[in-house]
Amino acid sequence: MKNKFDIIIQNAKIVDVNTHLLSDESVIIVDKGVIQKIGTMELLETSEATRIWDAEEKLILPGFINTHCHLFQTFMRGLGKDLTFIKWMNNSVRLMMPNLDEEAIYLAAMVGCMEAIKSGNTTLVDFMYAHVKPHYADYVLKAFDDCGIRGVLARGMTDVERLPGSPVKPASYATAADSLAEVDRSRGMYLDHPRISFAVAPSVIWGMTADGLKEIAAYAEIKGMIVTMHILETVDDDQFSLDKYGKTTMRVLEDVGILDTDFLGVHAIRVSEDDLALFKKYQTRISYNPLANMILGSGVAPIVDFTKHGINISLGTDGAASNDSQNLIEVMKAGALLQKVHNHDSAALSAWEIFSMATDQGAACINMQDQIGSLTVGKKADLIAVDFQKPNTTPSYDPIASLVYSGNSENIAMAMVEGEIIFDHCLFIKFDEKEILSRAQQKAEEIYRFSMEKNNFVRDV
Ligand SMILES: [Zn+2]
Repeated sequence: MKNKFDIIIQNAKIVDVNTHLLSDESVIIVDKGVIQKIGTMELLETSEATRIWDAEEKLILPGFINTHCHLFQTFMRGLGKDLTFIKWMNNSVRLMMPNLDEEAIYLAAMVGCMEAIKSGNTTLVDFMYAHVKPHYADYVLKAFDDCGIRGVLARGMTDVERLPGSPVKPASYATAADSLAEVDRSRGMYLDHPRISFAVAPSVIWGMTADGLKEIAAYAEIKGMIVTMHILETVDDDQFSLDKYGKTTMRVLEDVGILDTDFLGVHAIRVSEDDLALFKKYQTRISYNPLANMILGSGVAPIVDFTKHGINISLGTDGAASNDSQNLIEVMKAGALLQKVHNHDSAALSAWEIFSMATDQGAACINMQDQIGSLTVGKKADLIAVDFQKPNTTPSYDPIASLVYSGNSENIAMAMVEGEIIFDHCLFIKFDEKEILSRAQQKAEEIYRFSMEKNNFVRDV
């Protein structure tokens, strides 16, 4: 008698991440959301399943992990382009964010998740700071639930009355205590959800008070949550910190206890020797967001130096206001190329190294290394099927080099999260793609029109 499972993936190609060669294995057995077996066709003699998914020679890979995005910004795609940083901010995020409503947050998150899934992304960390009303994160959570992606809701927090360059109180202002109470409330709604978890996200050094940061650090330690924050993105970040505290950003974060937490720093571009020493000392993890860094002209994160010091690196798209896409394949390519340019060395960062940042290192950066990030028996069945029989990837000799340098969303044929196929033969399973896109377009146009009429800021051209 055969053993019965939920899903058998057969005729798959599987690549050995150690040798970089295709293995003899071609069968993956999934049950109760977990990878139960990986082996040769012989496994089929002893196994049967409710569903057989024939990979037809497609490559099965672990799904990609995006450790930094702002899904609400999907509605700000393309706004404020080619302006200086503060002008970009005033013409995109600060223009639209105060006018978002519940439906807009939901639809923006759905569109962002759709684009993510289509490009092989099965887990994302949403740094959600558009809290025009405190409960707006609920609508991102609903999108996670509806679309089937694995989502980490990193609750954004801003507890200063004025942000630099802004004449008004931040739309997302709340005391740290109020924001943390909201995290508790949201967690309570999704306690046993297999795909949804939480993190805390103090915005940036100039968006938080020192007392607020202390409260957040203490909370995260007790709850065992990761803390994620924008750090060292521009020269202004550290200058603000030096002016206000007489210390660099990283030294302030050390003082307030943030570095004692499982801390994921986002950007880390303007990094000094002292910052690097602190990254090593506290095992700070980094989210590398090369496309957003290029679009805003922020600079280049010294990723090659970080890897030499054993620092865990993951990848982020950042929000669509600064990146204009939520596509991690693009981020892998740009991320590798940018390091080659920065180091004047074509061997500076390889396709396999950046693939690791999108998968196993990404998982480690969010404390999920025991659950996701590789095709391993016992881990969650979060995986994708990559179809290389496309013009852009024919011929293919090294599949990971093909994917990183030649791949695009067209190559992603299937995505599975927690053992559930959510995207199959390039179609979403859990919702109607066209219906969501049409609603999103209409809603975004309404909010844009309203925002322009209300004109919170003098627009720059
Ligand atoms: Zn960001």
